[in-house]
Amino acid sequence: MTLAIHGGTPVRQTPYPDWPQFGVEEENALLRSLHQGQWWRMQGRENLDFEQAFAQLHGGHSAFAVSNGTVALEIALQAAGIGPGDEVIVPAFTFISTSMACQRIGATAIAVDVLADTLCIDPAAVLACIGPRTRAIIAVHMAGHLCDMHSLARIADQHRLVIIQDAAHAHGARGLGDTGIGEYGSLACFSFQNFKLMTAGEGGLVLCPNEELREKVFLYGNVGRPLGDRSYQHTVVGTNARLSEFSAAVLSAQLGRLEQQTRVRQHNARLLGETLVRQGLVTPQVRTADAHTHPYYMFLFTLDDLPGQPPLDRNQVVDCLVAEGIPAFRAYQALYRIPSYWQAPAPTRQNLEQCIAACPVSERMAQRGIWIHHRALLGTEQDTLDIAAAIAKVHQHLVGAQ
Ligand SMILES: *Cc1c(COP(=O)(O)O)cnc(C)c1O
Repeated sequence: MTLAIHGGTPVRQTPYPDWPQFGVEEENALLRSLHQGQWWRMQGRENLDFEQAFAQLHGGHSAFAVSNGTVALEIALQAAGIGPGDEVIVPAFTFISTSMACQRIGATAIAVDVLADTLCIDPAAVLACIGPRTRAIIAVHMAGHLCDMHSLARIADQHRLVIIQDAAHAHGARGLGDTGIGEYGSLACFSFQNFKLMTAGEGGLVLCPNEELREKVFLYGNVGRPLGDRSYQHTVVGTNARLSEFSAAVLSAQLGRLEQQTRVRQHNARLLGETLVRQGLVTPQVRTADAHTHPYYMFLFTLDDLPGQPPLDRNQVVDCLVAEGIPAFRAYQALYRIPSYWQAPAPTRQNLEQCIAACPVSERMAQRGIWIHHRALLGTEQDTLDIAAAIAKVHQHLVGAQ
């Protein structure tokens, strides 16, 4: 069988389920918010209701919905007291917003490596990287797999650091012992961008562990203005990060789909993982006990080495998989290889060569990592097995062509 990229028949004859998914619930939500007559949170109920339901599902005290996940991180950092001159330790393998949010508020992001199995931030690397100006750690729950929160908490306690969770991939995720993201005592930031596990096209949310932090998050996201103020008293330099009522209404409907979709994705991801391990061509992200519930924003894997042969060209593999009908993408570039990472405020106690030497897993992911979008895990078992079939087909052709 010829590769689809060369004109052959694709493995997938029918497309995977569309994303985003919506129905009468989202339609009703939009009409409900429209008929409120007032379309911002100050006079509506949609943001409040959504925040309450989201916080409850995640075991959090409360939440503040915002316009996107990047600004959620900026506000969370500010509410936690992080600012100019402070250093924040982040994983090198993540989306740029994790580090850019630090820079936007005047802090410096310091990238460290991730664990080879879970691809989440390596607590030992965090410990080794703490300096006199280190104030915080951002724990990115990669692809929906929770970080080793116990080790991170121990380090944070010992060195008086703040933890911020970047949960942009982790809607509905639960950690060791069935712990909700809101139960870890730290601020957690979510994104509702079009690709994410719940979406209103754009959107974000900061999950708060207590009333004090909720008030600070609200202040920074509401141009520094306390709730109920009528005399233009802006007590801190904030921004306007408020989310419209239309978006919040859609998100309430999306939240109603999350648990069922997560069950389907977990079932199919297990099947796909077992199949791929048997096939022996790629190595999937390892799921440990820290991922009690893994919502699989991504199905993430690396191409294995070929004994006695040069490695396959990852970008070519992704292009071939896309032609076969698989929603495949290149994994993130390591942060320190991205130009904006070195713009002010830039790390001064790291340079590119040191980062490369210190981050072999992030390097490998950037060169060999591939991820499949979660919509491909929302089909049947046969739909899921087609992903493995496409990987085997592409692998066989490209190895044969070398
Ligand atoms: C998507 C994402 C963000 C940012 O969210 P936006 O809503 O796109 O601003 C932050 N961190 C990670 C890890 C992400 O994947």
